[in-house]
Amino acid sequence: ALSVGIVGLPNVGKSTLFNAITKAGAEAANYPFCTIDPNVGVVEVPDERLTKLTEIVVPNRVVPTAFEFVDIAGLVAGASKGEGLGNKFLGHIREVNAIAHVVRCFEDSNITHVAGKVDPLSDIETIDLELIFSDLDSVERRIDRTRKSAKAGVKEAILEVSVLERLKDAFENGKPARSVELDDEEKLVVRDLHLLTIKPVLYVANVAEDEVANAEENQYVKKVREHAATEGAEVVVISAKVESEIAELEGEDKQMFLEELGLAESGLDRLIKQAYKLLGLITYFTAGVQEVRAWTISQGTKAPGAAGVIHTDFEKGFIRAETVAYDDLVNYGSMNAAKEAGKVRLEGKEYVVNDGDVMHFRFNV
Ligand code: GDP
Repeated sequence: ALSVGIVGLPNVGKSTLFNAITKAGAEAANYPFCTIDPNVGVVEVPDERLTKLTEIVVPNRVVPTAFEFVDIAGLVAGASKGEGLGNKFLGHIREVNAIAHVVRCFEDSNITHVAGKVDPLSDIETIDLELIFSDLDSVERRIDRTRKSAKAGVKEAILEVSVLERLKDAFENGKPARSVELDDEEKLVVRDLHLLTIKPVLYVANVAEDEVANAEENQYVKKVREHAATEGAEVVVISAKVESEIAELEGEDKQMFLEELGLAESGLDRLIKQAYKLLGLITYFTAGVQEVRAWTISQGTKAPGAAGVIHTDFEKGFIRAETVAYDDLVNYGSMNAAKEAGKVRLEGKEYVVNDGDVMHFRFNV
């Protein structure tokens, strides 16, 4: 399953946020692909389109799509040199698909800050440098091995060394791999290095509970936003403490509490949506009377691959996919009306699935 790792210095609010995630969390039984582990929280992706589809189809049950958050606690300065449980945590980061970097933007004299004062930019730099050191190490080792072949004139090796040199240069200037522009061929060259700083990142600015409504006035949040903008990264502002309280509530109680706080949506829901986007994922739907369900695929997936997310047999025996765009289905109000209007297409093996497609697969068994 796809996963987002929660990282950050100690005492910034990671566990508080992770507890909110597991409390609000999904019924893991619905998602057999998900890991059962105390450090993994499964979240359902909020999607208004499911509500509309439910009104049209009136199914027995509705299943949103889901992904995992992994709590990666314990990253401290010196981790790349083996301080603390350094290498173990770097190994956990290697396994996730994207990173949610929690930074402390709340003042609280009762809660120690590891660096002595609240300073989100310096915190971000501390974590980034640990990951960069580790990547620098991987790249240097690889260069040593590849240089010989490059000298002997092996074409692939020459390309590889040039890519590695560019990365090394960035690392030595304190810049992450995601800041280095690589084309598809170059990306392929470094893929098996499993670099930590090549993973997409979003920042989670954790503010005090009485600041959530006016978080944009918080000076620390401003700094985090400025920094994120230079990387083209997103920032999600939350109060982890408030989220852990919201996660205890359901339905109307939750709605009322959010209104009291002046919020349209919980911070956790915003975080889930942004993280899903960060993973480069899109959603297609199946809509039968038994079940309306959202499924996750990567952008660019063809119809058989999309069918394979439901079951490998669907992919192996794929014949065609009856497909209607979500907007068309909603505009015409029913599957039959959309069919009469010629909006339901029969798509074959080469069809690239779009976000929001409502699909019915035909397959051989
Ligand atoms: P971690 O080390 O990053 O996992 O941090 P924790 O989640 O354990 O939080 C450290 C301390 O900060 C705990 O005492 C939390 O209750 C507190 N904390 C977390 N979020 C907030 C917040 O939004 N406001 C305040 N005042 N305290 C918070």
